[in-house]
Amino acid sequence: MLNIVLFGPPGAGKGTQSEKLIAKYQLVHLSTGDILRSEIGRGTKLGLEAKKLMDQGVLVPDEVVIGMIESKVDANKNAKGFIFDGFPRTTAQAEALDKLLKTKETGISMMLALEVDNEELIKRLLNRGKDSGRADDQNRGVIQKRITEYNNKTAPLKDYYMKQNKFSGIKGVGSVEEIFTSLAETIDKSHK
Ligand code: ADP
Repeated sequence: MLNIVLFGPPGAGKGTQSEKLIAKYQLVHLSTGDILRSEIGRGTKLGLEAKKLMDQGVLVPDEVVIGMIESKVDANKNAKGFIFDGFPRTTAQAEALDKLLKTKETGISMMLALEVDNEELIKRLLNRGKDSGRADDQNRGVIQKRITEYNNKTAPLKDYYMKQNKFSGIKGVGSVEEIFTSLAETIDKSHK
Protein backbone atom coordinates (compact mmCIF):
# COMPACT_ATOMS: atom_id res chain seq x y z
CA MET A 1 0.00 0.00 0.00
CA LEU A 2 0.97 3.61 -0.47
CA ASN A 3 -0.05 5.51 2.66
CA ILE A 4 0.87 9.17 2.66
CA VAL A 5 0.59 11.72 5.44
CA LEU A 6 0.23 15.08 3.73
CA PHE A 7 1.45 17.61 6.24
CA GLY A 8 1.63 21.35 6.58
CA PRO A 9 0.08 24.33 8.35
CA PRO A 10 -3.46 25.58 7.63
CA GLY A 11 -3.50 27.05 4.14
CA ALA A 12 -0.47 25.11 2.91
CA GLY A 13 -2.44 23.60 0.01
CA LYS A 14 -3.04 20.09 1.33
CA GLY A 15 -6.59 19.86 -0.05
CA THR A 16 -5.62 21.07 -3.53
CA GLN A 17 -2.66 18.71 -3.83
CA SER A 18 -4.61 15.78 -2.34
CA GLU A 19 -7.11 15.96 -5.19
CA LYS A 20 -4.32 15.64 -7.74
CA LEU A 21 -2.47 12.92 -5.85
CA ILE A 22 -5.53 10.69 -5.42
CA ALA A 23 -6.16 10.91 -9.17
CA LYS A 24 -2.59 10.00 -10.09
CA TYR A 25 -2.03 7.22 -7.55
CA GLN A 26 -5.63 6.01 -7.06
CA LEU A 27 -5.64 6.60 -3.35
CA VAL A 28 -8.49 7.22 -0.94
CA HIS A 29 -8.51 10.76 0.46
CA LEU A 30 -9.20 11.02 4.20
CA SER A 31 -9.44 14.62 5.40
CA THR A 32 -10.51 14.99 9.03
CA GLY A 33 -11.44 18.63 8.34
CA ASP A 34 -13.78 17.57 5.50
CA ILE A 35 -15.30 14.77 7.58
CA LEU A 36 -15.91 17.18 10.47
CA ARG A 37 -17.48 19.76 8.14
CA SER A 38 -19.77 17.09 6.74
CA GLU A 39 -20.86 16.20 10.30
CA ILE A 40 -21.58 19.90 10.89
CA GLY A 41 -23.53 20.07 7.63
CA ARG A 42 -25.70 17.15 8.67
CA GLY A 43 -26.22 18.67 12.11
CA THR A 44 -25.06 15.57 14.02
CA LYS A 45 -24.25 15.71 17.74
CA LEU A 46 -20.57 15.24 16.92
CA GLY A 47 -20.78 18.06 14.37
CA LEU A 48 -22.38 20.45 16.83
CA GLU A 49 -19.66 19.82 19.40
CA ALA A 50 -16.83 20.02 16.87
CA LYS A 51 -18.14 23.28 15.42
CA LYS A 52 -17.68 25.14 18.71
CA LEU A 53 -14.00 24.18 18.77
CA MET A 54 -13.36 24.66 15.06
CA ASP A 55 -14.87 28.14 15.17
CA GLN A 56 -12.33 29.03 17.85
CA GLY A 57 -9.44 27.57 15.87
CA VAL A 58 -8.61 24.87 18.43
CA LEU A 59 -8.24 21.15 17.79
CA VAL A 60 -11.11 18.76 18.44
CA PRO A 61 -10.33 15.92 20.91
CA ASP A 62 -8.02 13.13 19.76
CA GLU A 63 -10.59 10.36 20.52
CA VAL A 64 -13.08 11.99 18.16
CA VAL A 65 -10.82 12.20 15.11
CA ILE A 66 -9.13 8.87 15.79
CA GLY A 67 -12.56 7.17 15.85
CA MET A 68 -13.51 8.86 12.57
CA ILE A 69 -10.31 7.71 10.85
CA GLU A 70 -10.69 4.15 12.14
CA SER A 71 -14.16 3.81 10.68
CA LYS A 72 -13.13 5.32 7.32
CA VAL A 73 -10.11 3.03 7.02
CA ASP A 74 -12.34 0.06 7.86
CA ALA A 75 -14.87 1.16 5.26
CA ASN A 76 -12.21 1.09 2.49
CA LYS A 77 -10.83 -2.41 2.82
CA ASN A 78 -9.73 -2.71 -0.80
CA ALA A 79 -7.96 0.65 -1.05
CA LYS A 80 -4.55 0.77 -2.76
CA GLY A 81 -3.59 3.33 -0.15
CA PHE A 82 -4.66 6.47 1.66
CA ILE A 83 -3.80 10.12 1.77
CA PHE A 84 -4.20 11.40 5.30
CA ASP A 85 -4.87 15.13 5.07
CA GLY A 86 -5.06 17.13 8.28
CA PHE A 87 -4.43 13.97 10.29
CA PRO A 88 -2.48 13.16 12.43
CA ARG A 89 -2.28 16.53 14.16
CA THR A 90 -0.93 15.39 17.54
CA THR A 91 1.53 12.74 18.70
CA ALA A 92 -1.36 10.73 20.20
CA GLN A 93 -3.05 10.72 16.78
CA ALA A 94 0.15 9.61 15.04
CA GLU A 95 0.59 6.74 17.51
CA ALA A 96 -3.03 5.68 17.09
CA LEU A 97 -2.64 5.73 13.31
CA ASP A 98 0.48 3.55 13.44
CA LYS A 99 -1.36 1.09 15.66
CA LEU A 100 -4.39 1.02 13.38
CA LEU A 101 -2.36 0.45 10.21
CA LYS A 102 -0.36 -2.29 11.93
CA THR A 103 -3.56 -4.23 12.53
CA LYS A 104 -4.10 -4.04 8.74
CA GLU A 105 -0.52 -5.26 8.21
CA THR A 106 0.54 -1.99 6.64
CA GLY A 107 2.02 1.33 7.76
CA ILE A 108 2.76 4.91 6.78
CA SER A 109 4.96 5.04 3.69
CA MET A 110 5.98 8.69 4.01
CA MET A 111 5.15 12.13 5.32
CA LEU A 112 5.19 14.88 2.69
CA ALA A 113 5.33 18.32 4.29
CA LEU A 114 4.28 21.42 2.34
CA GLU A 115 6.41 24.33 3.52
CA VAL A 116 4.89 27.81 3.32
CA ASP A 117 5.78 30.93 5.32
CA ASN A 118 3.34 32.51 7.80
CA GLU A 119 2.66 35.68 5.87
CA GLU A 120 1.67 33.75 2.73
CA LEU A 121 -0.53 31.39 4.81
CA ILE A 122 -2.54 34.22 6.34
CA LYS A 123 -2.99 35.81 2.92
CA ARG A 124 -4.24 32.54 1.38
CA LEU A 125 -6.61 31.75 4.25
CA LEU A 126 -8.22 35.21 4.24
CA ASN A 127 -8.68 34.88 0.48
CA ARG A 128 -10.21 31.41 0.82
CA GLY A 129 -12.55 32.80 3.52
CA LYS A 130 -13.98 35.27 1.03
CA ASP A 131 -15.37 32.61 -1.30
CA SER A 132 -15.54 29.37 0.73
CA GLY A 133 -17.74 30.78 3.47
CA ARG A 134 -15.62 28.88 6.00
CA ALA A 135 -16.07 30.78 9.27
CA ASP A 136 -12.61 29.79 10.51
CA ASP A 137 -11.02 31.45 7.46
CA GLN A 138 -12.68 34.81 7.93
CA ASN A 139 -11.19 36.01 11.15
CA ARG A 140 -7.54 36.92 11.67
CA GLY A 141 -7.63 35.93 15.35
CA VAL A 142 -8.96 32.44 14.55
CA ILE A 143 -6.39 31.99 11.78
CA GLN A 144 -3.61 33.02 14.15
CA LYS A 145 -4.93 30.58 16.78
CA ARG A 146 -4.89 27.72 14.23
CA ILE A 147 -1.31 28.52 13.31
CA THR A 148 -0.37 28.59 17.02
CA GLU A 149 -2.10 25.23 17.58
CA TYR A 150 -0.19 23.90 14.59
CA ASN A 151 3.16 25.13 15.90
CA ASN A 152 2.54 23.77 19.41
CA LYS A 153 0.83 20.46 18.81
CA THR A 154 1.30 19.45 15.18
CA ALA A 155 4.74 20.68 14.09
CA PRO A 156 6.46 18.21 16.50
CA LEU A 157 5.20 15.39 14.26
CA LYS A 158 7.96 16.30 11.84
CA ASP A 159 10.41 14.74 14.30
CA TYR A 160 8.16 11.75 14.81
CA TYR A 161 8.37 10.82 11.12
CA MET A 162 11.94 12.02 10.70
CA LYS A 163 13.05 9.48 13.31
CA GLN A 164 11.46 6.80 11.16
CA ASN A 165 13.17 8.19 8.04
CA LYS A 166 9.83 8.97 6.47
CA PHE A 167 9.92 12.76 6.31
CA SER A 168 10.26 14.86 3.13
CA GLY A 169 9.87 18.65 3.01
CA ILE A 170 8.45 20.14 -0.21
CA LYS A 171 8.41 23.83 -1.14
CA GLY A 172 4.71 24.77 -1.02
CA VAL A 173 5.08 28.10 -2.84
CA GLY A 174 4.84 28.28 -6.64
CA SER A 175 2.21 27.12 -9.11
CA VAL A 176 -0.12 24.21 -8.23
CA GLU A 177 1.50 22.21 -11.07
CA GLU A 178 5.08 22.88 -9.89
CA ILE A 179 4.27 21.80 -6.36
CA PHE A 180 2.47 18.71 -7.64
CA THR A 181 5.50 17.76 -9.74
CA SER A 182 7.78 17.98 -6.68
CA LEU A 183 5.39 15.82 -4.66
CA ALA A 184 5.08 13.19 -7.39
CA GLU A 185 8.88 13.05 -7.87
CA THR A 186 9.38 12.48 -4.17
CA ILE A 187 6.75 9.72 -4.11
CA ASP A 188 8.16 7.98 -7.19
CA LYS A 189 11.68 8.08 -5.79
CA SER A 190 10.81 6.31 -2.56
CA HIS A 191 7.93 4.10 -3.70
CA LYS A 192 8.92 1.95 -6.62
P1 ADP B 1 -6.89 23.74 7.94
O1 ADP B 1 -5.80 22.75 7.63
O2 ADP B 1 -7.06 24.75 6.88
O3 ADP B 1 -6.83 24.31 9.32
P2 ADP B 1 -8.86 21.62 8.25
O4 ADP B 1 -10.02 21.57 7.37
O5 ADP B 1 -7.86 20.54 8.17
O6 ADP B 1 -8.27 23.03 7.93
O7 ADP B 1 -9.32 21.70 9.78
C1 ADP B 1 -10.24 22.64 10.26
C2 ADP B 1 -10.44 22.46 11.77
O8 ADP B 1 -10.94 21.13 12.04
C3 ADP B 1 -9.18 22.56 12.63
O9 ADP B 1 -8.87 23.89 12.97
C4 ADP B 1 -9.57 21.70 13.85
O10 ADP B 1 -10.42 22.42 14.73
C5 ADP B 1 -10.40 20.59 13.26
N1 ADP B 1 -9.59 19.40 12.92
C6 ADP B 1 -9.36 18.91 11.67
N2 ADP B 1 -8.56 17.81 11.73
C7 ADP B 1 -8.27 17.62 13.04
C8 ADP B 1 -7.49 16.68 13.75
N3 ADP B 1 -6.82 15.69 13.13
N4 ADP B 1 -7.40 16.78 15.11
C9 ADP B 1 -8.06 17.73 15.76
N5 ADP B 1 -8.81 18.67 15.16
C10 ADP B 1 -8.93 18.63 13.81
